[in-house]
Amino acid sequence: MTIRLLPPDVASQIAAGEVVERPSSVVKELVENAIDAGARDVRIEIQQGGKTFVRVSDDGCGIPAAEVELAFARHATSKLATAADLERILTLGFRGEALASIAAVSRVTLITRTADEPVGTLIRLEGGRVTEQQPSGRPPGTSVTVEDLFFNVPARRKFLRSDLTERRHVDAWTVRYALAYPHLRLTLLSEGKETFRSPGNGVLRDVLVAVYGPQAGASLLEVLPEGGQERPIQVSGFVSPPALHRADRSEITLFVNGRWVQDGRLTYAVVEAYHTLLPTGRYPLAVLRIDLPPEEVDVNVHPAKVEVRFRDADAVFRAVQRAVRRTVLNEAPVPTMGLSSDGRAAWVSRPTPPPAWTAPPATPSPSTWLQTPLQAPTPGGLPPLRVVGQVSAAYIVAEGPDGLYLIDQHAAHERVLYEQMMNRQGESFPLQRLLEPVVVEVPPQAAARVEESLDLLRSLGFEVEPFGGNTFLLRSVPALLAASRPSEMLIEVAGALEETHARATQEVEQAIIRAVCKRAAVKAGQVLTREEMEGLVRALEGTASPRTCPHGRPTMIRLSVEQLAREFGRR
Ligand code: ADP
Ligand code: MG
Repeated sequence: MTIRLLPPDVASQIAAGEVVERPSSVVKELVENAIDAGARDVRIEIQQGGKTFVRVSDDGCGIPAAEVELAFARHATSKLATAADLERILTLGFRGEALASIAAVSRVTLITRTADEPVGTLIRLEGGRVTEQQPSGRPPGTSVTVEDLFFNVPARRKFLRSDLTERRHVDAWTVRYALAYPHLRLTLLSEGKETFRSPGNGVLRDVLVAVYGPQAGASLLEVLPEGGQERPIQVSGFVSPPALHRADRSEITLFVNGRWVQDGRLTYAVVEAYHTLLPTGRYPLAVLRIDLPPEEVDVNVHPAKVEVRFRDADAVFRAVQRAVRRTVLNEAPVPTMGLSSDGRAAWVSRPTPPPAWTAPPATPSPSTWLQTPLQAPTPGGLPPLRVVGQVSAAYIVAEGPDGLYLIDQHAAHERVLYEQMMNRQGESFPLQRLLEPVVVEVPPQAAARVEESLDLLRSLGFEVEPFGGNTFLLRSVPALLAASRPSEMLIEVAGALEETHARATQEVEQAIIRAVCKRAAVKAGQVLTREEMEGLVRALEGTASPRTCPHGRPTMIRLSVEQLAREFGRR
């Protein structure tokens, strides 16, 4: 085929496609322009999910009459002048492409006025061509109306989804900007009805309440920036306490210098910070602002500007992970017992479990934790607890300064063992040599994983040698597990290895340790002496994350003094 230059119409439609994918992209670009124009009040109106009608009105600086037509030219921008400016971008826009792109694929009407011009300007474009321009009145600011998106690009129009789906995309962008700019009063109207409004008082917590509702909004933990202003990477915002989680990562919202970004690695940093604090397969909520000097980040990576590149990506990763982890560990409250709707404690109406004190199973004495010295103050921020007794041979009842604590003895012991094993710092864990090595057959799918992990297993106390096919010779087990059946233990560890898809040594190690702790921890049904309970509670106080077991389930629940008073009608 002959090589030809594309006709300008086609070229501009192709270019437009990179910026404008769907109605929500129009909303995003117009709101960014409003923010760049210094607006405090932004109103978004849509019809049919934005497919037929989008209007964004702002009270920003407006466009001088002489420049209105130029604003629609491709690569026309007031936000940067030289290539050097690209190194330090402080505005959301800078490519000068949005208005040109939107106008190329829709019918646009823009009305604008600057504060020092007596009248404003109206301009209309259709498929990128100016059809009308005239003076027009309006208060200072700009409103852009975009009708019939993709009217001239049927291929694109076909890919638009239902009104509801398109509306959800618009909602998502609206919420992002409300969260990133708490000073902005952002209103969204769909089919003439107000569906969202942010308070615009500058208080992020109030925006969170508007977005997530009063309960979740109030329970989010504030991430305070670390150190003084001199730190180059500042992380601030809110994250969920471990008790609040979601089925996917979609509620992890990240802004870099006020720009919403999609960044798998940073999202992973947030999730990682909750390690062992959330049940598997559950994800936190987070709204985080990462602020760093503009020259440290390249925002000119993607036409829609939702991806960025950091000069030092590792440093940003660490800063995010550290800030979130610190917040979650310091601030996470122990979950309090929920009250049923009639105001009575939910557990009051549960059927009483059968008494378990009749025949305690013969399990080894959980004396290992007694070696842990008493620590004060506790690293994980638990108050000092006084053991009162045991319920159901499964829960330790304890008293703290702020109420009653019920501690799940198995989960608590798992946590203690897990941290002891994780903190062994390069030393091998004490092992118990078996009198006779045993031949263990592991599931064939797991054999390769075991074989890959021989060194790691040895450092944890399992001396294992390949013995042909999927059998292995087991010579020792961690001392902790001396009382368990060694072959079953290795099979369980092999199962855990197979289940974790992780390859990184650290994660594989954690998976093995979790399996060991689960097996070694004192079970429910075991009656504990007072010394054992006290030893366990002291050891738990000594852990860094006392509130959850290594699998993310709670180790304890609390009934606060206030709740008790309420339940007894004392106030
Ligand atoms: P960019 O935002 O990358 O500069 P756009 O195509 O989005 O490119 O906008 C082009 C120019 O039009 C902007 O640089 C700005 O000067 C002007 N402009 C667009 N929208 C507004 C607005 N809402 N208020 C004031 N000026 C605006
Ligand atoms: Mg723009």
